[in-house]
Amino acid sequence: MASKIKKIAVLTSGGDSPGMNAAIRSVARTCAYYNIECIGIYRGYQGMIEGDFLPLNARSVKGIINKGGTVLKSARSQEFRTPEGRKKAHENLLKEGIEAFVVIGGDGSFTGALIFNEEFNFPVMGIPGTIDNDIYGTSHTLGYDTALNTVVEVIDKIRDTASSHNRLFFVEVMGRDVGHIALNVGVGAGAEEILIPEEDLGLERLLQSLKRSKLSGKSSSIVVVAEGDKIGKNVFELKEYVEENMTEYEVRVSVLGHMQRGGSPSCFDRVLASRMGVKAVETILEGKSSYMVGLLSDKIEITPLNEAIKGKSKINKELMRVADIMSV
Ligand code: ATP
Repeated sequence: MASKIKKIAVLTSGGDSPGMNAAIRSVARTCAYYNIECIGIYRGYQGMIEGDFLPLNARSVKGIINKGGTVLKSARSQEFRTPEGRKKAHENLLKEGIEAFVVIGGDGSFTGALIFNEEFNFPVMGIPGTIDNDIYGTSHTLGYDTALNTVVEVIDKIRDTASSHNRLFFVEVMGRDVGHIALNVGVGAGAEEILIPEEDLGLERLLQSLKRSKLSGKSSSIVVVAEGDKIGKNVFELKEYVEENMTEYEVRVSVLGHMQRGGSPSCFDRVLASRMGVKAVETILEGKSSYMVGLLSDKIEITPLNEAIKGKSKINKELMRVADIMSV
């Protein structure tokens, strides 16, 4: 592939997710394959502003494909939101001879990249790395599949306690704006109810449904609640409401929190990261800029960054129907 570009940087930005390391490795190795220099930027855009760079060759990314988190570290940089901060970052990239960068992160990181491209006409490329799967232009973001597997395993364990004590558990999972994790783990772990931001069941319907479950012979129940669910103010309020209205159940709450973001990436995420890294570098070498690579109908495709940022990932309606039928 003939290209004028000889040096590409890679950084991880925003919240970490499993698979980021596999993507860093893929970008570095694809650069090595095409005889291009690769530079790792530490601590996201803050490291770009401070010139915190490290050359990466094919061997320096060994042994990281199976590691969670990000070896390049991540950060949220307020300074990069200012024109002065971005100017410093641009000067550092020029000084180092970097001609394009690949950012692995969420929509905030992509917004920063797009602004940077518009200000300095600097080639940028995005790889979606977030467990929430809330990005348009890809059926899966990096880390999402791993998070689903992690959460299903935990809910299976919670169910052991729930059924031993006739308890009702509210399990809160990540997903402030979208319910992909809740819906999928709810179906995968056999939850009785799934509460997601996209659908407001209402407290009364939740109660009716739990009462129906009880009458049908269920002695315990798991309700999976996405962080951003709109029914109650929070999962503890839901607990109080149900306890007041269903004295036959002992109700418990489990908030899973940050453990959902960690851990060794699943095989699916490692493969996806490897494919995305190759496509990101090859797209830059084709002279393109400001795209996000994504998985669409099992093919790695590119979507303009501005569409990826503005578009909404849609909840799977068919899966919502399956969830309904399964909780009969
Ligand atoms: P996550 O999905 O985990 O939250 P994210 O990439 O959306 O990941 P953000 O904190 O929103 O995470 O963004 C990461 C970084 O991108 C910010 O700390 C900031 O440096 C940069 N960024 C975000 N929005 C902008 C913006 N409007 N202008 C410039 N930079 C931005």
